Amino acid sequence: MTDRLLDLLAHKGLLLGDGAMGTMLQRAGLTDGGSPELWNVTHADAVRAIYQGYADAGSDIITTNTFGGTRYRLKLHHLQARVFELNQAGAALARAVAGDDRLVAGSIGPTGELMEPLGPLTIDEAAAAFAEQAAGLAAGGVDFFLVETMSSLDEVQAAVEGARRASELPVVVTMTFDTNFRTMMGVTPAQAVQTLHSWGVAVIGANCGNGPAEIERIMWEMAQARPEGAVLMAQSNAGLPRWHDGEISYDGTPDVMAGYAQRMRALGVQVIGACCGSTPEHMAAMRRALDGPPLAHYEPAFDASAVAPSSQPAGDSAARRAARRAQRSAE
Ligand SMILES: [Zn+2]
Repeated sequence: MTDRLLDLLAHKGLLLGDGAMGTMLQRAGLTDGGSPELWNVTHADAVRAIYQGYADAGSDIITTNTFGGTRYRLKLHHLQARVFELNQAGAALARAVAGDDRLVAGSIGPTGELMEPLGPLTIDEAAAAFAEQAAGLAAGGVDFFLVETMSSLDEVQAAVEGARRASELPVVVTMTFDTNFRTMMGVTPAQAVQTLHSWGVAVIGANCGNGPAEIERIMWEMAQARPEGAVLMAQSNAGLPRWHDGEISYDGTPDVMAGYAQRMRALGVQVIGACCGSTPEHMAAMRRALDGPPLAHYEPAFDASAVAPSSQPAGDSAARRAARRAQRSAE
């Protein structure tokens, strides 16, 4: 199996990911209780238009609308019998838009269930669910699996195992460090990059979270701990969510995200994309930034000398968390 991801990375040196799916679907009319994955068959034109928007903006990677595509997430919509079909459909739509020039990332998000011993789910059960999803994604033509927005290393282990049961395609993993620069389950960026590298995951990083300023420090920590050969990836939200009249919006402008892309490149991050709140406009600004010259000088925008596992400030308000969780039905 050729690794199109590593081939294209070797050829281009740097890849631009794409932006949000969930917030774009909401703009297109997906309601709170709706299943994003069902839209792969009921609203294929809308999903295709979002993929096309990112392709036109210059993204090298198109990510499938399958974030909640495990049977556990689909069960919330009584769609657990349609795992293969909905994942395959989302992947096939992306493949048609991406063509041969771009890569298709098969999005795999958390099951939403807690893993043993905190919850009921065993690694083996979770792996079986991820394998079922990955089989649909592979049948639809993805180039690699993107396991994203993960908090628990046990669940990541299950996802990597499941993906490998289903297919020889490469697995990329990004975790969400939204709780004082750790994941909700307490994993640090250094732990993530070292553990995942030891499992043979070639591309490792962070996605979602509390916006570009926080992800800069997270990726800086990952870069410090990066084992030789590990490729780094970052997909920040477009700033922070704000509630206004019951509507959610994100405060990161395309200019802010262009600056973030430059700073990620300066840290040696080779796959740079965006997450919640981002649009094709954000991706086009990031494309222009990355097509231009790199920063002449990089200095961390935080006090790097103060970064130690025990000295992390609390910075996560309940409102921000609630807003973010509300968005988490699809990345
Ligand atoms: Zn996100």
